[in-house]
Amino acid sequence: MAQIRIDNLRKDFGEFTAVQSSTFTIEDGEFFMLLGPSGCGKTTTLRMMAGLELPTSGEIYIDGQEVGGRRASQRDIAFVFQMFALYPHMNVRANIGYPLRSQGVSRAKTREKVEDIARLLGITDLLDKPVGGLSGGDRQRVALGRAIVREPKAFFMDEPLGALDAEFREHMAEELRALHDRMGATTVYVTHDQLEAMQMGDKIVVMNHGVVEQFGVPQDLYDWPATLFVAGFLGSPPMNKLEFDGTVEQGTGAQVLGGTAFEVPVMREGAQGRIVLGVRPEHVHLEADAPLRAKVVATEYLGTTQIVTLLTDHGEVKARVPSHQRVTEGETTGLRFDARMISLFDADTSRALR
Ligand code: ATP
Repeated sequence: MAQIRIDNLRKDFGEFTAVQSSTFTIEDGEFFMLLGPSGCGKTTTLRMMAGLELPTSGEIYIDGQEVGGRRASQRDIAFVFQMFALYPHMNVRANIGYPLRSQGVSRAKTREKVEDIARLLGITDLLDKPVGGLSGGDRQRVALGRAIVREPKAFFMDEPLGALDAEFREHMAEELRALHDRMGATTVYVTHDQLEAMQMGDKIVVMNHGVVEQFGVPQDLYDWPATLFVAGFLGSPPMNKLEFDGTVEQGTGAQVLGGTAFEVPVMREGAQGRIVLGVRPEHVHLEADAPLRAKVVATEYLGTTQIVTLLTDHGEVKARVPSHQRVTEGETTGLRFDARMISLFDADTSRALR
């Protein structure tokens, strides 16, 4: 097991900065997600941690030891790639045992270890089968088996489920998480899928354009995004953003928007100017008498809930309301926000006011 600390990590490819001054800590045993859109630098960050890419500057510590200059083979970690390349001419047993055999571990010890791993993964009955005829999921399990057989300090996974179809992907995600919980090894997992990150991760770091936007537990990121980017990247539909001129007053947090006063619990006193109010669709309520007026422009039925799109003087708002609530396109109604769940952002810096 391992704690991994990243301090001011940076990677330049010529003129281009792929990762700039990243700092965060992955605690021992955590399932840690590197999340962000394509090209944000998550793979480069992971490759630097794994020793597959040299940092331009900054430090990487594994269990307190600086490893930035060490090669992957000297870091006692296992890298699981998106494409699970198995040895096609070997059976399952030989594929899983290969890392041990190539390190000179005895045949008997390898056999014992491989059978333990197969039990853990539920693939004992496949051990003597050739890998060629296996289903996608079983191939994933064999590849995982091969990665965990050495009992590395940490696992690094780059979109390991990326090639799977949606239903199977969800199933494998659950299995991966359960396997992690049984083994307890620190796992760093790259994904661009915010739902996957929130479902699987103990902690998430959100990256954008090579910059760490925020890191923390999923619910904190979801409820209290540090930047407008995080507010928009997490959640489906994302957080509503209403822009207005305002002053954040001391103490009470009273805000006036369309004649409505909001009590806002977290804030920076005295902030002034263009302010963005962020509120999740599930915290928007349609109430006929509420002072913030809005016109219903669309409804989308989702089973237990529906997403209602409304137009206000401050921009578009989406509300997630129960399906049984009667909403008619074209009608004008009032909007109330759960005051305790409102975030405020400085429109110029995109950062949360708090
Ligand atoms: P994706 O999910 O698309 O892989 P990512 O967030 O993992 O995205 P990276 O692969 O880390 O992003 O790449 C970050 C940026 O650095 C991209 O713009 C990419 O083109 C660039 N980059 C990555 N590796 C190299 C390289 N070896 N040489 C030049 N540019 C690179």
